[in-house]
Parts: sequence; structure tokens; C-alpha cells
Amino acid sequence: MNYKKEWLDYAKKFHGHICPYVALGVKASLLLLSKLNIKRASTEDTINENLLAIVECNNCFLDGVQIATGCTIGNNSLIYLDTGKNSLSIVRRSNFEGLRLYMDSDKVKGYFPKRGLKLFDKVVKQRNANQEEIKEMSALWEETGYKMLEIDNSIFDIKPVKIKPIERAPIFDSLKCDNCSELVMSTKIIEQDGKHYCATCANIEYQALIGRGIQTIQSLFLEV
Ligand SMILES: [Zn+2]
Ligand SMILES: [Zn+2]
Repeated sequence: MNYKKEWLDYAKKFHGHICPYVALGVKASLLLLSKLNIKRASTEDTINENLLAIVECNNCFLDGVQIATGCTIGNNSLIYLDTGKNSLSIVRRSNFEGLRLYMDSDKVKGYFPKRGLKLFDKVVKQRNANQEEIKEMSALWEETGYKMLEIDNSIFDIKPVKIKPIERAPIFDSLKCDNCSELVMSTKIIEQDGKHYCATCANIEYQALIGRGIQTIQSLFLEV
């Protein structure tokens, strides 16, 4: 079986659907890995965070990268930069050097079927499509996703990159919140009048990664 296609089949399980951008994330990752002459992050790589993938937009492309590189938010080998670009860098921790790929979305659009773009507008942008249209779009996007694996690599601009050293994920002790009794990473504890609180109980603002990127929010949880 086609190596690229295999990862895209897996994307359906991980990402929930196959779409052009998840496919392009897979394609971009496999291309950079092969140019760097390295394989998907191994057991040792993920434990030691030897390989770092840096992504700059939280869209479907990001999931394609996590699937094909093995660098994920959870294993701390994926670094998310909130710059809003379709870009992937892969660097080795040994020298913090590697390659950065930038994907030109305008060039990519040229490969999308017109009907697909129209449906995307209705289903995702305007959120006012019916079940039939959602079904039609997902079938069309899946087909387009597989096609993306074969399109010309000129949609990508690839350059050498070097990044500032980034520490490995530190491990912190936990402290109990004096209000809710839940354990909290000690660096996230808020001290008020000699007591320790979690951010929720202290009712302070904190950072959250949501659809539009990293945002400052306050008290997401409501009383139920
Ligand atoms: Zn998607
Ligand atoms: Zn609390």
C-alpha cells in the first residue's frame, strides 16, 4: 500500500474526517522528514523530545502533522506558535536546526473543486447547510484529500531553519487548591491571602487555545 495513503487512512480515525488540509499536513510532514533523512518520531524520540515539530496554525493541517511526524501536543514534541500561518518546521533537538516549510494557501486553492469550495462556504463558514450538503462536502473533501497527496510540491516553500534552544518539558510538583481540593501544577497555583488556589477558584484570567488561536479567557466553567 502507498505509504502516504496509509497515513491518510489513519487520519480518518484520528481527525474524524479526511479533508484537504489534514492531507496537506501529512504530505508536508513526510516531505520534510524525507528531506531531513529522518523517520517519524520513535519511542525514544518522543520520550526525550528529540524531534520537534513547530506548527503555526490550529487547523486541520496541524492534525496531519501530528499524525505523520508523531510529534504531538501531548508528548511535548509539538510546539504551537500562534502566528496564523500554514507552516511546519521540523528541527532536531541536538542542534536545533532543521527545515521550515511554508504552504501557500492561494496556490493550494487552485487544486480544489469549485463545488467543494462552495459547499465549504455554506457548511463551515456560514454554518447553515443541511445534512445532504454536509454529506456531499465530506465525500468531496475526502476525495480531494487523497488527490492532495499527489499534487506538485511547488505549493511548498522550504528553507533551512535554526531555532532558539527550547527546554524539555519540566516536571513540577503538585499542590492542592485550598478551595476545590484538586491537585494543581505548582507553577499554576495562585496565592491569595496566604492560601493556594487553582486559576478557576481564584477566578483569574488564563490562556486557552481555542478555534481562533490562543486567547485570554476567564472562568470557562459555569455553575451547574
Ligand atoms: Zn479536517
Ligand atoms: Zn480550585
